[in-house]
Amino acid sequence: MLRKIQNLFFHLISQRKHVFADSDEESRFRSYAIFCLTGLPVMLAFGLYNIATANYTLSLVIFTSYAGLLAGLYLLYRRIAPRAVYRVNSLLFLLLLLYMVAIGGNDGSKSLWCFVFPLVAFFLLGTREGTLWNSLLFLIYQLISWNPYKVGWFHKYHGEYSIRFSLAFLCVATITYFYEHYRFTYRTRIEEQNRQLNNEIKDRTRAETALRISEEKYKAIYLQAAEGIIVMNPQGNVLESNPQMLNMLGYSDEDLIGTNIHNLIHPEDLAQTPSQVSRILKGETVMLERRLRTAVGSYRLFEQSGRLVDENRIMLLYRDITERKAAEIALERANLELDKLANLDGLTQIANRRKFEAVLRKEWQRLSREQLPLSMIIGDIDYFKQYNDLYGHQEGDNCLITIAQTMEHALHRASDMVARLGGEEFIILLPNTNEDGGQHIAEDIRQRIALLRIPHKGSQCSPYVSMSFGVSSDVPNPKRLPEDLIAIADKALYLAKQNGRNRVERADMDILS
Ligand code: GH3
Ligand code: MG
Ligand code: MG
Repeated sequence: MLRKIQNLFFHLISQRKHVFADSDEESRFRSYAIFCLTGLPVMLAFGLYNIATANYTLSLVIFTSYAGLLAGLYLLYRRIAPRAVYRVNSLLFLLLLLYMVAIGGNDGSKSLWCFVFPLVAFFLLGTREGTLWNSLLFLIYQLISWNPYKVGWFHKYHGEYSIRFSLAFLCVATITYFYEHYRFTYRTRIEEQNRQLNNEIKDRTRAETALRISEEKYKAIYLQAAEGIIVMNPQGNVLESNPQMLNMLGYSDEDLIGTNIHNLIHPEDLAQTPSQVSRILKGETVMLERRLRTAVGSYRLFEQSGRLVDENRIMLLYRDITERKAAEIALERANLELDKLANLDGLTQIANRRKFEAVLRKEWQRLSREQLPLSMIIGDIDYFKQYNDLYGHQEGDNCLITIAQTMEHALHRASDMVARLGGEEFIILLPNTNEDGGQHIAEDIRQRIALLRIPHKGSQCSPYVSMSFGVSSDVPNPKRLPEDLIAIADKALYLAKQNGRNRVERADMDILS
C-alpha cells in the first residue's frame, strides 16, 4: 500500500522532476507527500472522534492543521518558498502539540499516540538546527507542564504522562537529529564528490575538444598540404604518408607503409649526408636535400624538413624542387654563358678588351701595394690587311685564331693573360715580371709564330705570317695610370713597325714625353 502510494507520488514527481533543484529537495517533497497521505486517515478518524464526543474545538484544530499541511504540499509542489513552507509547517505542528499538551487530561494523553507521525515528520522535514531548537523549546515546555513542584498556575497535564512523553520525545529527537546530521554530512560529501566529478568531466571534455580540434587541424594540413608528408618511426620505417606524397612518387599506400625510408633515398645522398635522425631526436628541425626514388625508378629532388612529433614519430615534409633545381642550373649556365659573352672574344675565345681592363685594374692595385713590376706586351700582325686581301677574310679569321692559341700556350703563369685588343692586335699582361722578362716572353712568342710558318705572300718582311711587339714595364704606382703603360707599349710597337716589323721593341716612360 505504502509502496503504491510512493509509486504514485514518484510518478507524479518524475513528470516534474526537472523542477526540483536537486535530489535532496525531491526526496524531502516525497516524504512530505507520503506523510500527508498516510496522515489523512489518522487525522480524519481523530477529527471525527472529537466531533462525536462533542469536542468541537479540538476537531477544528485538527482539520485546520491538516488543511495547512495540504496547503504546504501544494506550495512545495509548485516550489513556492519551500524553506518558508517547511518552517511554517514545523511551527504549526509545534503549536498543535503545545495546544494538545496544554489542554492536558485524558483527551490530551489519548491523543499523544497520533502525534508520533507528525513528530517524525516535524523533525524529518525541518533543518538540523531547526530540529535542535524545536526540541529544546518543546523540552522546556514539557518540564514546565510536568510541574513537579505543583505550582498552582500550570498543572493541567498529568506528571506521569509528561515524563513518558518527554523520554519518547527525547529518543525521537536524538534519532532524528543524528539521522539529519549524517544525511547532511553524507549529502555534503556526495555533493563534493559530484562537484569534483563534474569538474573532472568538464576538464576532460575540454581537453578532448582541444585534442580533437588539433587532430582535425593536423588532419586538414596532412590532407591538403601542397607538401608531401611522411610520418616514420625513429628506425626509418614509414608509418603514414599523405596523398600528395604518394602522388609525387607514384606509389600506393601499401607500397610505402612499412618500407624503410633509406630504400627510397638516393644512395649518393645518403653517403654524402647520412641519416640525421639523431639530430631530429634531440629536437632539432633538420633541412636537407634528398633525391627520392619514384615508382618508375627515376629520382626526384626534394627539400626535406624533418621534425620530431613524439618519441615514436618523426614527421618529414617534402617539397618537390626537381623543376626549380633544373631551372636554377639552367640559369647558372645562362649566367656563365653571359659572362663568357661579356668577357671573351667571340672569334678567338681568349679574353676581350673589357676583361683585360678589369684584370689590369686589379693587378695594378695589387702590384702597387706589393711594389712588384708589371710588364705589358702589345703585338700586331704584320701586313694583315694584305693577308686578308690575298687569302680571304675567312683565312684571316683562322689565322687570328691560331695566333691567339699560340700566344696563350706561350704563357705559363696563372696570373699571365692574353687578350684581343681588337682587329689583329693582341695585348699580354705579365704581373710580377720585369722588362727583361717581358721582352723575353715577347721574343718567345714572336719565334713561336714564325715557327707556325703560315704562308704570307703579301708580307714584305717574311714569307710567313709574322708579328711585331712593343714591350713596356713598370712598378705600378697609385699616382700613375695603367693606361700609361699601354700607351708606352703602343709606342714601342710603333717603333717595331718602323724598324722593319717582325721584331720586339721596348720603351719606357721617357718615350711619352
Ligand atoms: P701593319 O703591318 O702596319 O700592321 O699592316 P696591317 O695591314 O696589319 O695594318 P692595318 O691596321 O692597316 O690593317 C689591319 C687589318 O686587319 C685590317 C683588316 O683587314 C684586318 N682585320 C682586322 N680585324 C680582323 C678580323 O677580325 N678578321 C680578319 N680576317 N681580319 C681583320
Ligand atoms: Mg693593326
Ligand atoms: Mg697589323
